[in-house]
Amino acid sequence: MEDGQPVADVVQYEAANGVATVTMTRPKYRNAQNSKMTYALDAAFRRAVDDDAVKVIVLRGAGDHFSAGHDIGTPERDVNQSFPRVHLWYDHVGKPGGEFQYAREQEVYLGMCRRWREIPKPTIAMVQGACVAGGLMLAWVCDLIVAADNAFFADPVVRMGIPGVEYFAHAFEMHPRIAKEFLFLGERMSAARAYDVGMVNRVAPLDRLAEETYAVAARLAEMPGLGLTLTKQAINHVEDLRGKRTAMDAAFAWHHFAHAHNQLVSGDLLAGQNARSMAQSQREGQ
Ligand code: ZN
Repeated sequence: MEDGQPVADVVQYEAANGVATVTMTRPKYRNAQNSKMTYALDAAFRRAVDDDAVKVIVLRGAGDHFSAGHDIGTPERDVNQSFPRVHLWYDHVGKPGGEFQYAREQEVYLGMCRRWREIPKPTIAMVQGACVAGGLMLAWVCDLIVAADNAFFADPVVRMGIPGVEYFAHAFEMHPRIAKEFLFLGERMSAARAYDVGMVNRVAPLDRLAEETYAVAARLAEMPGLGLTLTKQAINHVEDLRGKRTAMDAAFAWHHFAHAHNQLVSGDLLAGQNARSMAQSQREGQ
């Protein structure tokens, strides 16, 4: 990544041979996403969309893990900070009660993920190690997922009393019965099983992950750009006709009822859970 350019110190951007690479660069914190990172990701995607030479975008995480989720405890956690919004939406800072979290997550989580899902160029998530909770959201908004054999996927937030992460695509990413198991148990799903259930496109040995991912990217880069854009829109439209968008709106409301309930009962949005307790709760699954 020597020739990469930082979008912020949390995201790196580079483009070559029709392929833009967007890299999350908080490996020390397993690429936990703070707001600074989500806004930097958005800026990097904007850059890739604006560059006509870019045909395909690879999203990846520096270090051993793709992303361990949203930042719920690093020193750079920035939930109380204002950022210039990317949507025509208002600032969450200083808002009372449940409005703070609701306003923030509409913009930073649900809104951004939907934007990224609709990027008019194909996107590939290159996933190694942890792809947990908020990490799933980043992989799921991509069109294709190439996983290393050591990748694992989990949404353990039911332990917080919350019905899954904000971008509620679970029942579209896997069969509803498997989605229930995935959420109820919160266990780690292996790359092999994720492949079996149709959540990832390819699994590669860790040392060949980049090679496999960029081979797919190179083939996409040779395809007509408009054809790819229209195909992406058509398939996203099918998902929305099947209820993806409306299901997600309902789940987002339940998600926020849970945040508010936690706040009322325990005084904490996350029901007293933190990064450490969540990591310790993680079990191997099927
Ligand atoms: Zn939330």
